[in-house]
Amino acid sequence: MNIENKQHYDHLYQQITQAQQIVITTHQNPDGDAIGSSLGLYWFLKNLNKDVTVIVPNEIPPYLHWLEGIDDIMIFENGQIDAIRKISAANLIFCLDYNALSRVKIMANYLKHSNAFKVLIDHHPDPEEENFDLIFSETSASSTAELLFTIVNYINKSFDLQLINKTIAKAIYTGILTDTGGFRHAVEHKGVFETTAKLVEFGVNAQVINKRIFDSFSENRLRLLGFCLSERLMVIPEYATAIIYLKKEDLKKYDYKVGDTEGVVNYGLSIKGINFALLLIEKKDEIKLSLRSKVNFSVNQFARNHFNGGGHDRAAGGTSKKSMEDTINTIKTLLPDYEETLNSIKDLGL
Ligand code: 5GP
Ligand code: MN
Repeated sequence: MNIENKQHYDHLYQQITQAQQIVITTHQNPDGDAIGSSLGLYWFLKNLNKDVTVIVPNEIPPYLHWLEGIDDIMIFENGQIDAIRKISAANLIFCLDYNALSRVKIMANYLKHSNAFKVLIDHHPDPEEENFDLIFSETSASSTAELLFTIVNYINKSFDLQLINKTIAKAIYTGILTDTGGFRHAVEHKGVFETTAKLVEFGVNAQVINKRIFDSFSENRLRLLGFCLSERLMVIPEYATAIIYLKKEDLKKYDYKVGDTEGVVNYGLSIKGINFALLLIEKKDEIKLSLRSKVNFSVNQFARNHFNGGGHDRAAGGTSKKSMEDTINTIKTLLPDYEETLNSIKDLGL
């Protein structure tokens, strides 16, 4: 999409003006960008006196619980009847930070069959065009939150009101901060810094939020990280790859809470000469994979081709129905096919 496309914004403005009941949705296992962009849009629409509800498929990690409006969010898994009622009554549904309906898991069917006008706002490649009525898709955006800021500014002008405030700015900053891993990746464009500067003008205290996100671990979370690095890290230098895996009993031992493994995959990638990092977590009936790369190697393609997943070129995820041991073996047998791309990191001195 060309984010300068005026028609797109006018269409959205018109839909917002007409709609009374609005639902905002985001992906399974919501992260800082999912929740930050959802709450940013939530408060913006509240300021327009709309009846608006944020619905997420499952639990929100504790490091986001300080965000204003967090208690207003409906968790589909914990209250299906009310959530389904809201979805059926909505005239307008926003789909934030995902490109495919399957990403909202148990909510997907209800969204698919809703007659509401559906607006996608997202930064993942290749959105499912057939499932949305209006698409704001910008893969160069650091985060959905950054893209949302551009959109709400535009709509703000159309209403000729000041609808953006500090609460909205804090939610958007949280989305940018978390999706860029603390401004470490997806920050090739100056736009992300310009947006951040504007958020600070709205009163965001960046240092406080940085600490709330990155320096608020529980003791168990830190010890689980220590365990991952000392006991569960496998380095395969010939393919520039590092794998960290966690079994159910490991999670139990460290009293795992949702969000506790956030960022763990990046430690594999922090090793010099490693281009591909994987985190494998044993869930109830599948293995969840988190994939990251430094250069040239598309983890999005790898996840799509082999693990029924997707994401971005440098950060993606997927699932495996095999056992942990078999999943690791499958990965090892796939690596030689990507040897050249994986090892290209060495030529760059990274
Ligand atoms: P994470 O590893 O942090 O869970 O996810 C990294 C990126 O991959 C995110 O952009 C997320 O939306 C995407 N992603 C994670 N898991 C899946 C999955 O199972 N399917 C798809 N299509 N994308 C995923
Ligand atoms: Mn995102």
